Amino acid sequence: MKCPKCEVNHPAKLGRDCVCGYRFILNPKVDMISDYKMKILVQKASNMDQNFFTFDHLYFTFMRTYLKPTSCLIPIIIITAVLFGILALANGFMIFELYVCGGVFAVLYIISVLVRPNTKKFKKIYPRAKFLEFFELWDEFYKTEKFISETTMENPPPDWKEQDIYDYGVNSIVIVDDDLTVDYMIKNETHTSNQCLILSENGYPSYLMGIAKDIREKSSEIPVYYFHRYDPNRQRQNEGLDADCWSFLNGKYIDIGLDEKSVNEIKVLKDLKFGKNEVIPLSALPPHFLAQSMSLILAGELVALTDLAILGLNPEIMGVMDFG
Ligand SMILES: [Zn+2]
Repeated sequence: MKCPKCEVNHPAKLGRDCVCGYRFILNPKVDMISDYKMKILVQKASNMDQNFFTFDHLYFTFMRTYLKPTSCLIPIIIITAVLFGILALANGFMIFELYVCGGVFAVLYIISVLVRPNTKKFKKIYPRAKFLEFFELWDEFYKTEKFISETTMENPPPDWKEQDIYDYGVNSIVIVDDDLTVDYMIKNETHTSNQCLILSENGYPSYLMGIAKDIREKSSEIPVYYFHRYDPNRQRQNEGLDADCWSFLNGKYIDIGLDEKSVNEIKVLKDLKFGKNEVIPLSALPPHFLAQSMSLILAGELVALTDLAILGLNPEIMGVMDFG
C-alpha cells in the first residue's frame, strides 16, 4: 500500500501504521480504493485544496479518472508486431503470417471495444453509495477541509446586511437546479467574481428570494439564467423552471441547461458514456469547465455551455481554472 504521506510502499502485513506515523484507513483489497488514490482524487476534485467540492464532484472525478478512453490501439499493435516477428523468425517471411497477424489484430481490437466500460458498468462495479461509505471513513479521520456535505445557507450569515447586496451590485440572477450547488458556488465565491445572486430552483436560500424579486421588479433588464442538469424526461416534456416561487419571472429567463446537444457535443461528458435515459447533473462537468463557461455566459461572451466545447477548449488541457 502506497502511503499518501511519505509515498513509501508499506507492506500490508506490517499492519495499518506506516513508519512515518500515517494510519491507513482503507484496505484496497476489500474497499474499492486505496488511501493513496483517495488522496489523489480529493486533490483533483478540490483543485489541490483550493476549491470547495461536493461528493458528486468527487465521484465524477473518480469516474472520469477510471473511464478515461485510454487507447488500446498501441498495445494491440505492439502485440501483433511481436507475434509477427516471432512467426517470421521461426518460419521466414510468409504471406499467411500476415493473415494470422491481421486476424489477431482484428480480434484483439473488437475485444477492446467490447470490454471498454461505460457508466452503467462502472456504477455496478463501484456503486456511488459504496464509494460514499469509503470516502466518509476517510473523511472521518482526515477531515477534508473543502468538502461540502450539506446545505448550510438557509439563514443569512450573522454579519449579513441586505444593503450589502445592493451596494455591491447585482448584474444578474443565477438559478441552479440543486440547493447544494448554491452552497458550492457561494463557497467558491462565484457570486462575487460574477456579481450575481445565486439561488436554487426551490427558492433556496429563502432570505434571498425577496431580494431577487425586488431586483427583478426594479429592473427587468437584469438577466436571469437557469443552469440545470440534463433530464431526458423533462427534456421530452419540455419542462422548464416551473416552481411557483419563480412565477414572478413570467417565464422570462435564459435557459442554460445541459440538453441533448450539449451532452452529445461536450467531450468530457461524452467520455463518461452516460446511458440514453440517465440524468446528468451539472457536477458531471469538470468544475473549471462549468466555472469558466458560466463566467463567459454571464459576461455575454457565450450563449450556451456547448460554446466552450465548440471553441475547441478542451477542459483537460485548459489547465486548472480558478473560480473567479
Ligand atoms: Zn508513510
